[in-house]
Amino acid sequence: MSKITKVIARQVYDSRGNPTIEAEVFANNMKARAICPSGASIGSHEAFEKRDISNKKYLGKSVLKAVKLVNTKISKKLKNQNIHNQEKIDYILIKLDGTKQKKKFGANSLLAVSMAVKKLSARIKKIPLYKTFLIKKNFKLPYPLMNVINGGAHSNNGLRMQEFMIRPDKAKSVAEAIRMCFLVINNLKALIKKRGESTSVGDEGGFSPMINKNEDALKLIVKSIENSGFKNGKDISICLDVAANELFKKNKYSIHTKKFTSAQKTINEYKKLINKFKIKSIEDPFAENDWTSWNKFMKEINKKIQIVGDDLYATNLQRLKVGFLNQSSNAILIKLNQIGTVTETIEVIKFAQNIGFKTIISHRSGESEDTFIADLSVGTNSNQIKSGSLCRSERVAKYNQILRIEESLGKKAKMSKL
Ligand code: PEP
Ligand code: MG
Repeated sequence: MSKITKVIARQVYDSRGNPTIEAEVFANNMKARAICPSGASIGSHEAFEKRDISNKKYLGKSVLKAVKLVNTKISKKLKNQNIHNQEKIDYILIKLDGTKQKKKFGANSLLAVSMAVKKLSARIKKIPLYKTFLIKKNFKLPYPLMNVINGGAHSNNGLRMQEFMIRPDKAKSVAEAIRMCFLVINNLKALIKKRGESTSVGDEGGFSPMINKNEDALKLIVKSIENSGFKNGKDISICLDVAANELFKKNKYSIHTKKFTSAQKTINEYKKLINKFKIKSIEDPFAENDWTSWNKFMKEINKKIQIVGDDLYATNLQRLKVGFLNQSSNAILIKLNQIGTVTETIEVIKFAQNIGFKTIISHRSGESEDTFIADLSVGTNSNQIKSGSLCRSERVAKYNQILRIEESLGKKAKMSKL
């Protein structure tokens, strides 16, 4: 047994330059630390993010109260706990907060501690982090979902959809998958330059040209896939995150144009896009409480593509169960800070995989140098990882970590099944 001696926290900064919380856990004269990420398009069912809204010095964005809670109450409660008993530690954290959406302590303070505990336990046992989750052997490596054009809440270019992604379906290794994305991204950059547009990037490292039609973004991506010598829809496929919560008002959607239209018309437009651009995956095509449209879409699409619930589930087991019964999607996006502890996240992944859902481990648009999610994706045999483009070190860090894991697995490394 290795006992926790203390837990501390500090305020650091995320990739958008906003304050966030880093926790550090101590046991066996060793320590490990973890940083909590932060979203921009935040669903209402997500666990609460504690910020000091009245602290004008930081525009209401500091996390100093959360830091104090870790340094005092959390540190006191976790002292002498066995670092290897993650479930018990997470249960203590959940109970200490005591609210449904972790409103008292904030999921940010709890998660930073929970991830640091997991890392330190692995370090003390001298096991790589990815080997400490669900899978102990026969690891399957995830396909990257690279967000190459940013829109929605992650950019100010006027594109309605939030993320235009590529997935290298034919790659036989992670190294090959990333090389394929690298080629497409370079060709996309050349095409954007040729249009006379800026090649500056958005929050997740994808380009953010001043185009405002979804179809224009999709055409650019198809062309860059072809210019790289690949076949769209076969070698590489296009995947979308609509983040429809942001485009929903009075039961209508403004996804395809600025005009708000009915859910059925929105579905019809999706179908056209799927056929025209051979789209293979759509995340959050509808708003978080519009169960009817999700189900209608699933029925009409009839398993043709991957339909992913992000804001819909908020990495919450109860919501996933409702979605399963309602036949709302066939995949779930997993974000640790939507729920707030490692143990609850693993529970959701386990349940999702048991009901045949694909699991996609995801970053947040506000990220850090922490690569925890890379290990989590491998350690749970998740099919895909979404960590932005091959640009901005907080995004690339996750892909680089999976490259290291692939190298260490050697011949045993296998890609997951899409
Ligand atoms: C997403 O919506 O999938 C995403 C990663 O963005 P955010 O972190 O802003 O929710
Ligand atoms: Mg999303």
